[in-house]
Amino acid sequence: MSKKSYDFIIIGAGIAGCSTAHFLSKYSDSILLIDRNCDVAQGASGAAGAFLSPLLGKPNKFKDLVTKALKFSVEFYKQSIPKDTNNCGVVRIPKNNEDREKFVSYIPYMDFSFEEEGEGYFFDIGTQVNPYAICSFLSKDVEKLFNYDVEHIVKNDKIWLINQEYETKNLILTTGADISLIEEKYFNIRAVWGQKIDIYTTTCISKNYHKTCSLSYSKKVEGTNKNLVSIGATHHRFNCDLKICNHCIKTANINQMFSHSYSLDTVNNDTDKLLRLANDIQKLDDVEVCDIKIGARASSVDYFPMVGKLVDSKATIEKYPHLVNGSFIKDDMLLNFDNLYIINGVGGRGFVLSPYLAFTLVDNIIKNNKIQSDILTHRLFKRWVKKYKLNND
Ligand SMILES: Cc1cc2nc3c(=O)[nH]c(=O)nc-3n(C[C@H](O)[C@H](O)[C@H](O)COP(=O)(O)OP(=O)(O)OC[C@H]3O[C@@H](n4cnc5c(N)ncnc54)[C@H](O)[C@@H]3O)c2cc1C
Repeated sequence: MSKKSYDFIIIGAGIAGCSTAHFLSKYSDSILLIDRNCDVAQGASGAAGAFLSPLLGKPNKFKDLVTKALKFSVEFYKQSIPKDTNNCGVVRIPKNNEDREKFVSYIPYMDFSFEEEGEGYFFDIGTQVNPYAICSFLSKDVEKLFNYDVEHIVKNDKIWLINQEYETKNLILTTGADISLIEEKYFNIRAVWGQKIDIYTTTCISKNYHKTCSLSYSKKVEGTNKNLVSIGATHHRFNCDLKICNHCIKTANINQMFSHSYSLDTVNNDTDKLLRLANDIQKLDDVEVCDIKIGARASSVDYFPMVGKLVDSKATIEKYPHLVNGSFIKDDMLLNFDNLYIINGVGGRGFVLSPYLAFTLVDNIIKNNKIQSDILTHRLFKRWVKKYKLNND
């Protein structure tokens, strides 16, 4: 049977995959976006409060990356999808005195303008987006295949085969916390589960707030005295090894059936916790919980995302056997898998980082522009290969 063929196949229709589809669609009309869920934004991206807020702190490379991405992404959302982007600012409220002192010590290093407001500080860059609307918009110009689980990917000559049914010259993996298609030991992701709730309340809120949780500005529900408000998020690291038990991560449409795979007690406790934390920011009247979503953030071990080609560890070690003794090697000498790209490890900032990273990746694929070294997978390989002997002796 002949296989359906595309120039690009993207696996994973969250914000990383949809952003990639968007930027790629400017250059190709042969793109397939695949997901095991029934629609876009049904994994972590559907659970996100989708708040965009600055990272505060002393200067470092990660903060620089978040700042660059925040400027890029807020502008991008405002220009491309203004209806589903609310740039009404965010008030950041220190949690306690220690946090306040830290905040004051960061003032000389602020990357965005701010002013004192009540117990906190108002940043006009603060934004919230509608995750489903954004992902739908970004993927509108590409062909989509939903309810389709990719079980294996195989390279045959220069072509990638997807479940032996689809083929492509270029494969892009934006699979979030599920990294089971990547058989590379250096490539690790920690799943950080969490929950967001939407509520109806008669309280009006004019901007976003962040203290121990985030509380969104309120949207009036037409014909009622109610307002819709989002509250997020909780964080859980469960003690399971993703390489052994991947059950929850692999469950399709988890928010349609989460009571089966994710403890209902955890969900109820998180709902109570989020309501308590939100009331500590602003008293909310006549509250009715109208939606609960859970998802697994994909966090890298060093918090930086991973973008670009994947290093082929077997081929690299065969070519440079001295690497396992800890010898130094330049990034561009490492051997990569041909025409296989990823965006992953966007952690709790997927809506801030993904448009910027997708733009960077597409620029690399199409124009061969370099990707900054601290977000390549090469750093992970180099760290891992140094310990290779220890793990294999
Ligand atoms: C509760 C919660 C609140 C959050 N709040 C915010 C926030 O306020 N601001 C912010 O910026 N970020 C927030 N985040 C983080 C953000 O949601 C994530 O960083 C982002 O959604 C990750 O996007 P992604 O595309 O990498 O992954 P995902 O959205 O998880 O998408 C990956 C997709 O790949 C699919 N997939 C994987 N493997 C396969 C396969 N083999 N075959 C077919 N399909 C496959 C999955 O079904 C999934 O749909 C939050 C996350 C959570 C959980």
